[in-house]
Amino acid sequence: MLILGLESTAHTFSAGIVDDAGNVLNLVSDTYIPETGGLHPLKTAMHHQDCFDGVISTTVKEAKVSIRDIDLIAFSQGPGLGPCLRIGATIARTLSAGLRIPMVGVNHCVAHVEIGRVACGCDDPLCLYVSGGNTIISALKCGRYQVFGETLDIALGNMLDTFAREAGLAHPGGPKIEQLARKSDLLLDLPYVVKGMDLSFSGILTSAIRLLAKHDLEDIANSLQETTFAMLAEVTERAVAHTGKEEVLLTGGVAANDRLKKMIDIVALEQDASFHVVPRKLAGDNGAMIAWTGFLQFDQGNTTSLEESRVMPNWRLDQVDIPWRQER
Ligand code: AMP
Ligand code: MG
Repeated sequence: MLILGLESTAHTFSAGIVDDAGNVLNLVSDTYIPETGGLHPLKTAMHHQDCFDGVISTTVKEAKVSIRDIDLIAFSQGPGLGPCLRIGATIARTLSAGLRIPMVGVNHCVAHVEIGRVACGCDDPLCLYVSGGNTIISALKCGRYQVFGETLDIALGNMLDTFAREAGLAHPGGPKIEQLARKSDLLLDLPYVVKGMDLSFSGILTSAIRLLAKHDLEDIANSLQETTFAMLAEVTERAVAHTGKEEVLLTGGVAANDRLKKMIDIVALEQDASFHVVPRKLAGDNGAMIAWTGFLQFDQGNTTSLEESRVMPNWRLDQVDIPWRQER
């Protein structure tokens, strides 16, 4: 069985084809990079509108299959930017009707967890998902991926990108901040904001921007990483200790950061848990994770009718039942 997955929640339009064993046959993505400022939802949607045809046909062609070989269309139904989600949903409805195959709407955050589980071969992880739009610490409990901690304002990736932009660096800022931070081991004073199990990054962003007037960029970059990654490590450690999970899974675009990997690896080690990082290609937003999660839902007998296919921009991770997993 072949599944075509469409991802369009934010900056990236992506199509991926997977089979029912979780093998990725092909994955093609096109990411919108605004010339100035952050992501404008309508402009981003227009980017997706312009590129979807090429992305999907290249994905199919390079996988050496025909669109007629596809058995199921999966699309990200939320959470995300409304206009961007609607592009993906419209394409899914059209392909489903035209090819006479079922479609299934997927929660984007569930997909990040599921692609990590299948790609890393881990079973029941505590998952730290850090990306441009999300910062979530979750694990399976009572049939759902419960949120043990999350950001109360902006996501870590968004914070790094916004700071980088203020500092005159090109988008995406995360990798550039990582490079700069390697050149410093100075720790400047920044707020450390953990509230219970939740995190906040907006005050840190304001403080870091203020530091630009009187400190080296390398030192600020290092301090930003050390402070925010320590916050993530603290909450992750507490979540592992409380849930007793024996695996830690790091995913999302920020999972590419070597310093973050090192810190979360230490957390896992100290909690007697194994540490897993999603391969770089599958860590950021991608159609393969949507396809694979669509298959897991389909395999449980769940498809999405036209009436149910309305997008859900505020759909939370912990609102989704996970019937394909047995609780340990
Ligand atoms: P995603 O939203 O999952 O596609 O991930 C994109 C985010 O990951 C952006 O905010 C990037 O700045 C961030 N990112 C990518 N590589 C790195 C890195 N090496 N260090 C920190 N952040 C990164
Ligand atoms: Mg994402």
